[in-house]
Amino acid sequence: MKKLAAGNWKMNGNRAALAEVTALLAAHPAPACDMLLCPPTTLLAEMAALAAGSALHVGGQDCHPNASGAHTGDISAAMLVDAGASHVILGHSERRADHGETDALVLAKAEAAIAAGLIAVVCLGETEAQRDADETLAVIGAQLDGSVPHNATAANLVLAYEPVWAIGTGRTPTLEQIAEVHAFLRTRLTGRIGTAAAGVRLLYGGSVKPSNAAEIFAVSDVDGALVGGASLKAADFGAIVSALAAA
Ligand code: PEP
Repeated sequence: MKKLAAGNWKMNGNRAALAEVTALLAAHPAPACDMLLCPPTTLLAEMAALAAGSALHVGGQDCHPNASGAHTGDISAAMLVDAGASHVILGHSERRADHGETDALVLAKAEAAIAAGLIAVVCLGETEAQRDADETLAVIGAQLDGSVPHNATAANLVLAYEPVWAIGTGRTPTLEQIAEVHAFLRTRLTGRIGTAAAGVRLLYGGSVKPSNAAEIFAVSDVDGALVGGASLKAADFGAIVSALAAA
């Protein structure tokens, strides 16, 4: 399978930040892995135009489960497609925490995204209290069962394991902990969608940076990364892309 270096710009970046995309594409015109950047919606169409014909895919950070209607401030999956997106991040822990998103809502969004032709990047992960209570596998198993559509395949689903306590904190799980969770996810996903699970990219996310990328990418069943802060700068994200391409 082709590995995936994905970046989540979150609520960061204005049009001037698109210079980072130009620099990334100049430095990595044809990497041996897929690249994805998910900017704020305001930048989506312009970033997609910059990325057209390149190795860079562009995605949204959320979508509404409905196709259209009276949902002020929301974006539908079809609108993301129309703006040039091929992917959408769903169920990020910041959406789950800031907007009270449940597994059922993430599932509905993922179904809508897949129906619209997008690749759903479904995020899951435990809080620090849950890890301390030894609930990690139970929590992410329930999240997977509750938020991954039964009709998902390797072509329309990416799963991202993002321990909440590792996001934006500079802290990461041990390599053994990452290996344990990713092996668990592969097995659990097989229970949910069958043999297609073998080809689904399992990303690790949470304080991935140039200095730790190579060791994380050497962990079995880690098929790439979802990167927050370090995806904002072409030099940092490019170094992560290089580490993944070499893994
Ligand atoms: C994220 O929010 O998806 C993330 C992994 O953030 P960071 O890389 O900044 O920890």
